[in-house]
This record gives sequence, C-alpha cells and structure tokens, in this order.
Amino acid sequence: MLETITRISESQKICTATKDEPHLGKLQEDGLLCNLRPGEAKEEKEKDKGKGPTPDPSAEFGKKHALDVTTSNGKYVFSLKVNGSDKELFKTDATQKGLDDAEKELAKLVEEKQKDLETNLKVEFSTAGEDVIKQWIEKPDCTWERGPMVKARAPRLAELYGIEAALNKAQPSHLNKDGSKGLKFYFLTETYYKNDPALAYFIREDKDKRPAIYFDPNGTNNKPITEADAKRSGKNYLNSIEALTQHEIFHNAQHNMGWDKYDVKDRFARMIGWLPCEDPKTHETKWIFKGKKDDLYRREQDNCKDPIKWCACHSGGELVNDKGKEVDKVKDAQQFTRDAIQDLALVRPSTWYFVNPVEMFAEGGMKYRLNDETRAELLTESPKLYDAVKIHDQEEIDKYRGVDGQARSNFIRMPDGTLAKNSGENAKTVQEFEAKVKARAAEKEKQKAKQAEKK
Ligand SMILES: [Zn+2]
Repeated sequence: MLETITRISESQKICTATKDEPHLGKLQEDGLLCNLRPGEAKEEKEKDKGKGPTPDPSAEFGKKHALDVTTSNGKYVFSLKVNGSDKELFKTDATQKGLDDAEKELAKLVEEKQKDLETNLKVEFSTAGEDVIKQWIEKPDCTWERGPMVKARAPRLAELYGIEAALNKAQPSHLNKDGSKGLKFYFLTETYYKNDPALAYFIREDKDKRPAIYFDPNGTNNKPITEADAKRSGKNYLNSIEALTQHEIFHNAQHNMGWDKYDVKDRFARMIGWLPCEDPKTHETKWIFKGKKDDLYRREQDNCKDPIKWCACHSGGELVNDKGKEVDKVKDAQQFTRDAIQDLALVRPSTWYFVNPVEMFAEGGMKYRLNDETRAELLTESPKLYDAVKIHDQEEIDKYRGVDGQARSNFIRMPDGTLAKNSGENAKTVQEFEAKVKARAAEKEKQKAKQAEKK
C-alpha cells in the first residue's frame, strides 16, 4: 500500500490528468510511462464503426487472427505480410473443416514462435483469461478509481512477429534491471482506462513485479507488422507493431537506466532542451521546453476537462501573454500549436509526440533503433536528440554487456539497430554511416541557404 501511495504523489508531481491525455496524470502511478499516440486508437475505433459482420467465414477467420486468407484451387491459403514480403503459413481445404484445421495449425505456429522468443530472450506473453490489472475509471470530478479486473488474451501470430522484429533491435532493453528476466507482453481484452482506448502502455511492475507492456484491445489492429511492411504498403510510416513496441521497450531502457530517479531524468531531459521547474503553489514539477532564443514553453490547462495547450512561459514556469506579461490562466497566455513548437524548439523533437521529455526521448530512441533510414532521419533532423539517445543507449549496453580493461565498450549498436562486437571494423561502419548522413545533411542545408538567397 505504502508503495502505491508514494507513487501517486510522485505522479502528481510530474503531470496532471487531462481529458485528451489522461494517461499523463496516471502514468507514473503504476509505473507506466506512456500511452502512445492516444488519438490514433480513437481514430481506428471510429474506422471500424459501421462495418457489418463479414459473411465469408474465411474472411472472418483472417480478421480474427490478423492474417490474409485467399482461395486457390479449392484450398484456403493463409499468409502474413511480414518483414517486407508475403509469408505463406499453410493451406487447408476451402471448407468449414479446413477452417477448423487452420485453427490448430495456427495455434502450433503461435506456440512455436512464442516458445522461441521466451527461450531466447526470456520474455513472456499473457495467456487467455489471465488477470492483468484493475481498470481505471474516471469520476466526474476528474479523479480516478479502480474498476473490475481486466483480463488478457493470448498473442496473435502477427503480434509475435512484430514484437520479434522490435526485440531484434531493442536489446538489451528487453531485460529487467538485473537481467534475470525479459519483459512480459500483455494483450488486454478491455481498455486499461475505461472509455479511453490507447495503443500500449509501459508498466514498470506488473502483478508479478516484472516490467511489462500492455497492448490495449485495438492497439495492434490494422497495423503493418514491421516498418518494412509499412514501407511496402506505402503508408503508416512509424505506425507498425514493430515501431509501437520499440517505443514501449525504450521506456524500459529509461527504467533500467534510472529515470525513476529525478537526477537521471533531469540529466537526459536537459540534453534535449527540457528544464524542470517547481510550481510555487502546488510544488509540482513542471517541464519547460526551451526555444532557440531565450523563449520558453510549457503545456498547461486551466482545468482537467480542458485540452492541454502549449503556452509561452518564464523560467519559473509562469505563463505569459504575447506582450511578455505574466498571466494566471491558459486562456490569457500566448498559445502555440504543436507544429509551431516543433519548429521553435532548441532541440527538434523527432516526431510529433513530445508531450514531455520522457516521450520525446522514447520517440528518438525508437527511431535510433528501428533501421538505418529512421536512424539517419533522426541524425539529420535532430542531431542533439540523436547524440543524447546514443549516449543513453551505449550506457545501457555497457551496463548489460560490459566494457574491457580500457573501459572500451564490448558491444555497440550498428546502423540497422542490431548489437555487434565493438571491433575496429564495426566501429568504422558506424562512423562512416554517421559521417555520410552528416555530409548529406550539410549539403542539403547549403542548397536551402542558396535557395533562400535567390529569393
Ligand atoms: Zn511512451
């Protein structure tokens, strides 16, 4: 109990519950750090509305298990779009019995893949009907209470492939602090927050005191499995199961590196342009985001039912209007859109999801690890965020994989996101990759400057 109470007061120091992002207030309480891109989950829910039941049983099967079913020469052909190509899984007769057989075939494949990941990476997956945690329910006064127990389901094959792709690039952040166990992945059958669907949450401690990731019921629906599949379909960039999982696993990296402690979070937050300040009235910590000049911004709301707005502020956190005069209310302050803040920022966020330093850092971490293209993009668009993530990542790798007698890292992360021995050749590959990306970025800047001159 005591621990719960401590965490609640900690959470209130960090952020307040809001209508559009209620997770932000509650997140630290259970040790969960985020609810990635909450708007998206709602959109997907809307998209599904109005679609009647599919009469074709094979299509129903495909929808239920998130795989493709086609019919060819009297056979059902079951396949997945994974790692950039169509992977045929098995065939059965194109009959009801064929579908029953398919259930069994698929269960075997799920079990195999799951066992493979559990054995090799010490991770674990929820089972059908397993207790997860009691649901959060918002009361009319914007406080929260616990509701009924949320149950889990077993993972789908598509989800296992997406998680596998993320795990291949996420090491060693898939482990708990002492390295004895890997993360546990839960697939929820009810949303963690009542009437507030999200995609996924990172949880510092599940019911068995293990770091975990909760996927909300629609969190993985209609998503490409990996970034290669997103690329192949020509849409959904950074919206694959792989990317979502990579973001969440990076929160475990933060947890492993001690972000629960204020000084660690402060150190990395400052590297990417965030400053803490204490509200003189409530003693809450507010995060202030630095602009390129002496301009400062932070997110605030007048009451918990209002949307949170980006506002100009002073270094003590006081909101200011467009004349630089301090004001009490968000409605009187100079407000900015998220896009405007992204352009004004001293350290540019690498995606639109930068509600606080924890999330901005995790998005950078995700792009750093996904593949060489997203890593190059991060280095081009936000070199300071890239550097901070790289330092964080290497410190974590060293913690788990050690250093040699000269304090040289035993392992480094390659441009594609995998870990490799810190040999001269591998280190050179990384150096050359970074040099090439920087040269390309500099050339682009030069062209831009030339264009501007002409105008
Ligand atoms: Zn997050």
